[in-house]
Amino acid sequence: MATFIVLLGPPGVGKGTQAKILADTKKLAHISSGDLFRENIKNQTELGKHAKSFIDKGELVPDDVTINMIRERLNRPDCEIGAILDGFPRNPAQAVALEKMLAEFNGQVKAVPYITAPESVLVERISGRWTCRANGHIYHQMFNPPKQTGVCDLDGSDLYQREDDKVETVTKRIRVYLEQTIPLVEYYRKSGKLIEVNGAQAVEQVSLDLCSAVKNIIL
Ligand code: ADP
Ligand code: AMP
Repeated sequence: MATFIVLLGPPGVGKGTQAKILADTKKLAHISSGDLFRENIKNQTELGKHAKSFIDKGELVPDDVTINMIRERLNRPDCEIGAILDGFPRNPAQAVALEKMLAEFNGQVKAVPYITAPESVLVERISGRWTCRANGHIYHQMFNPPKQTGVCDLDGSDLYQREDDKVETVTKRIRVYLEQTIPLVEYYRKSGKLIEVNGAQAVEQVSLDLCSAVKNIIL
């Protein structure tokens, strides 16, 4: 059975950073709904144009569009043994849709690490975030600076500040998270899959805690 891990947590807590590390070390695919939307926006697809109007306002993209995009991604061969999901699901309807999709190809959500940090930490992290244009690699101007300002260490592409990382939109995104995504904490707690991880620590320590949280689930 294919193993899926859902990373849950507020915007800016470090889901993308941790998902990349975990996916690399455990040789699982990394599915970031935000990265998929940004790729579509960059390529000016119809999906990208539609999604951009919601993303720029800090709102969630409608479920039908998001779920179809994830379904396509799950069908790619690199998900056969499983994946780390980052940013999806983001509300209970998406969680139910995920279960149905995974059941179609004998997959299951095995664990849901829930990464938390105080709001002041989230704002500090988001306001210093720099994202790589080509592949979405993540940097922070203070906590994880690139070797050369404005250039990705890994692929040499330019780094940019996300349009939705400006202060007004961040406040809105945190509110949307509290209203729409927080119910997933209880949803996954009830299923016994929720594992709380303290995100207010250095990247390496969060990574160690996350690895030990899933050690019985993925080898
Ligand atoms: P999310 O995917 O949850 O929105 P990111 O992984 O993009 O969060 O991280 C948000 C910002 O915080 C990035 O600039 C990243 O480099 C930085 N960051 C991530 N984890 C930590 C950490 N443990 N300590 C300090 N900065 C971090
Ligand atoms: P992220 O990269 O996870 O911070 O997501 C950036 C933005 O993309 C969010 O603020 C939403 O507008 C949109 N988005 C990402 N994932 C989802 C999702 N699962 N459902 C709806 N909208 C999403």
